[in-house]
Amino acid sequence: MPENNYVKVTAIGGVEEIGRNCYVMECGQDIIVIDAGIMFPRQDMFGIDLVIPDFSYLVQNKHKVKALIITHGHEDHIGAVSWFLKEIEVPVYAPRFAVALINKRLEEKNKKHTYRLIEIKPRSVIKAGCFHIEFIPVNHSIPDCMSLAITTPVGNILHTGDFKIDLTPEGGKPADLARFAYWGEKGVQLMLSDSTNSGVEGFTPSEQTLLHDMDNIVSSASGRLIFATFASNISRIQQIINLAEKYDRRIALSGRSMVDNIDIACRLGLIKVNKKIFIDIEKVKSLEPHKLLLITTGTQGEPMSSLMFMATDRHKHIRINETDTIILSSSIIPGNEMSIGKVVNKIVSKGAAVINDSRSDVHVSGHAAKEEQKILLHLVKPKYFIPIHGEPIHLRMHADTAKSMGIPAENIFILSNGSSAEFTSKKARMVSEKIPIRPIFIDGKGVGESYADIVHERSRLSDNGMIALICCVNNQKLEQTRIISRGFTDFTASENLKKNIIRIAEEQYSQHGQNRGIFIQSTIKKLKRYFLKELYKMPIIDIEVINYSGKE
Ligand SMILES: [Zn+2]
Repeated sequence: MPENNYVKVTAIGGVEEIGRNCYVMECGQDIIVIDAGIMFPRQDMFGIDLVIPDFSYLVQNKHKVKALIITHGHEDHIGAVSWFLKEIEVPVYAPRFAVALINKRLEEKNKKHTYRLIEIKPRSVIKAGCFHIEFIPVNHSIPDCMSLAITTPVGNILHTGDFKIDLTPEGGKPADLARFAYWGEKGVQLMLSDSTNSGVEGFTPSEQTLLHDMDNIVSSASGRLIFATFASNISRIQQIINLAEKYDRRIALSGRSMVDNIDIACRLGLIKVNKKIFIDIEKVKSLEPHKLLLITTGTQGEPMSSLMFMATDRHKHIRINETDTIILSSSIIPGNEMSIGKVVNKIVSKGAAVINDSRSDVHVSGHAAKEEQKILLHLVKPKYFIPIHGEPIHLRMHADTAKSMGIPAENIFILSNGSSAEFTSKKARMVSEKIPIRPIFIDGKGVGESYADIVHERSRLSDNGMIALICCVNNQKLEQTRIISRGFTDFTASENLKKNIIRIAEEQYSQHGQNRGIFIQSTIKKLKRYFLKELYKMPIIDIEVINYSGKE
């Protein structure tokens, strides 16, 4: 088969999790990459800051890579752009708000790095190798979000990016459904579509449905109002600003990303506001409580966020009290339930009121529910379908929806990270070979897959602690064994424990003392057995031998 007679679609990330979205389309000597996002670490990824996609396959084929295409400015789509560009220098095409966010990040991280970041407009078309990509505006929870209609030598591919259909959005326009219909009429070989809310029945409500409840909250509050929301949710922030204007409250901002994003959005004209309404957070004490509205980060209970600092009396300027009302205008990102519970309980214990989307309409999702997914499937009428952007359960439910819309099961491909499907103008198949993919961890300044072992070690430490034996040897005699233990067990509860550990070390030394390596290995083995039997624990065991006689 001539090599440009098929397109290979590979998920580098984004199909086993909500996060690190990165999709690759390959045709002959051309590759385009769609999104380069991060994933926030799960709670079992101890100490890890971020997870980024494994770009190894792209680095090996960097001569083929023609462009990085960005659908929108959420971190799970742009957060890894700087790491991508370190390895592969290609033009990056992105919509306006995403360009501003990427620029800010790249300037902060690596000012000297040269990069070509090109802003695209709705319905504009770019060429990258044999691919032509048209950008179709859709609704989501961040401004300037695009679906992609990609013309390839084997047919048209539609990639929805993250989307919902909001016919009355706050700012911006409804999704460009006419364009989806146009491509549907033209013929679409393959569609890849956002699966986040594929388990949610019906339609995602419009952003404007929040107005009633949010207005009630603001109009009836007699104390300070503290709105916590995602810093990228500019339309939500606009609604909050409108309410502050209506009820004559000044606005203070807290949280770096909130300040930065509102500044960018104001510059781009995405937020309409008389800037005199803003007051520096250092000056809020001069205001009567009913004259102040705060907008802050920290909806997910992040330990270093502004809201958590307020809740734990560590914020420089704000102490929460019983007259405050805190509104969590956000959803719970799976995995963050405990940390959100923590911040809510801290706030409630100070006597303040907390309102979230279980009590009032203060949040709507940015992702399409089942009926909106069906609308796009109906308009686009793809021959083949790949559900993307979700955990396996979301992909499976989206595949079921596609089947209910008449797409045959054999035309639906569920990918895992590293797997590919190949398409010609006539047929399609799963590729049997997978690209090896490992999660790449960002740990402080460290980057790499080797951190998987370190995370595993941290996990063991958190479960079982560690014990170290310092064996002091003089003239080939084990004279003293010192025990250092961290997070392992309470040695004061058992007098025999220390004695037995020392006895095991001495026994092993008498048998294997002449060979340090064998002595260490056999002692660790015996101790493991002993700890498991006596304590049901498997700590990390470390043994150091110090020779005082000066001979190794
Ligand atoms: Zn998104």
